[in-house]
Amino acid sequence: MARRRVTLGTGPGVVEPFRNAALDAERRRRITFKFRHRVDELVMSGGRITGVRGKRLVPSTKPRGVATSRATAGDFELRAPVTIVASGGIGANHDLVRANWPSRLGKAPKTLITGVPAHVDGRMLGIAEDAGARIVNRDRMWHYTEGLRNHTSIWPDHGIRVLAAPSSMWFDAEGNRFESPAFPSYDTIKTLEMIGKTGYDYSWFVLNKRIIAKEFVLSGSEQNPELTRKDLAAYLANRALDDVPKPVQKFIDKGVDVVQARSVDDLTRKMNRLARNDLIDAGKLRKQIVERDRQIGNPYTKDAQVMGIHNSRNFLGDNIVRTVEPHRILDRAAGPLIAIRMNILTRKTLGGLQTNLAGQVLNAGGAVVPGLYAAGEASGFGGGGVHGYNALEGTFLGGCLYSGRVAGRAAGRATA
Ligand SMILES: Cc1cc2nc3c(=O)[nH]c(=O)nc-3n(C[C@H](O)[C@H](O)[C@H](O)COP(=O)(O)OP(=O)(O)OC[C@H]3O[C@@H](n4cnc5c(N)ncnc54)[C@H](O)[C@@H]3O)c2cc1C
Repeated sequence: MARRRVTLGTGPGVVEPFRNAALDAERRRRITFKFRHRVDELVMSGGRITGVRGKRLVPSTKPRGVATSRATAGDFELRAPVTIVASGGIGANHDLVRANWPSRLGKAPKTLITGVPAHVDGRMLGIAEDAGARIVNRDRMWHYTEGLRNHTSIWPDHGIRVLAAPSSMWFDAEGNRFESPAFPSYDTIKTLEMIGKTGYDYSWFVLNKRIIAKEFVLSGSEQNPELTRKDLAAYLANRALDDVPKPVQKFIDKGVDVVQARSVDDLTRKMNRLARNDLIDAGKLRKQIVERDRQIGNPYTKDAQVMGIHNSRNFLGDNIVRTVEPHRILDRAAGPLIAIRMNILTRKTLGGLQTNLAGQVLNAGGAVVPGLYAAGEASGFGGGGVHGYNALEGTFLGGCLYSGRVAGRAAGRATA
């Protein structure tokens, strides 16, 4: 179920070798980059795709990830023997996400926050469909259940995902503790389903300062400065300290989804104020925390989440960097208490353009659309999700890179 996947260098580090190879190819005039060119149409002639048409967008100097102007500066058309669509998923287009939402996950959330840049708009999927491509598994999406509204948004409605570890308690909007497997970092799709079936778009983590200090990691290169600059020693030193990491502390100080208190009564008041309702009952919340806390000293506990904490402690890596020593959440020395409203955060797309094993796009009849290939999230990373619906608990990048290599090599052979 859970997987570990924070890389040294984070996203920019993963991309670096490919970036270097592409820049080298550009120097050798094997690649021409066409930045600020938005494709609006696939050109069809003689029964095959022969290129793309679209608009040149006005220049922009905005940093990576920031939404840019869509104002246009003219048309363009490019001709090529093969065209590869690698335009990504649909996560920034909430209307499309809701339209494809599967009933097995409950009702589509009214409130979503966005875990991808604005360019992940799914537009190219419709454009490819208009050119004859077949889209499969539209209802397979990977949205996280532990999303915080960013205090300093890079893209519109920017949400940050918490990579949580085992100790926080997880409650639905009415303050009922979730059962297995809705424990932090266990099973994203199942938890999404369990939250969806509550009829609310959010849930609550309840924890304390000691847990947040040790166990919280935030997803995103800017949230992990030591790892992004490949300074493992500084990262480990920071995690070993009992102090809250600076990026996490910023969410406590400035985030709209976090409340802190010294007592359960006060915490409940603040949770209800934040959610603008009175769904949480202090007595019920306290009872569930006390019941869990009583299990902490019991070596034969039957509390499935506490068993999971002990299991994590048995794995050296998790023991060192992401699992706090078992303790009572209501232990005053570990306080203050913290409650975090967790929103649904859009991220990854498993459905997309159906391809064969060479990355060639197929039509509704299962025949190849001549001249058209697809890779990455646009093709559900490999013809409709090579890792299956659970995507090895959200592992996309490897499949995207692999399907890119497959499509690139096949396109190379086709044009040799
Ligand atoms: C914050 C964050 C954390 C993540 N963490 C992980 C992780 O830990 N592990 C993991 O496996 N995956 C992770 N992912 C997911 C992973 O990064 C993506 O699945 C992957 O990058 C998708 O690659 P892609 O090339 O298919 O699409 P993208 O990287 O989205 O690239 C698509 C490109 O196409 C361009 N484009 C789109 N439409 C058009 C058009 N009409 N005309 C011209 N250009 C267009 C876009 O501008 C963009 O440059 C994360 C994603 C985010 C945002």
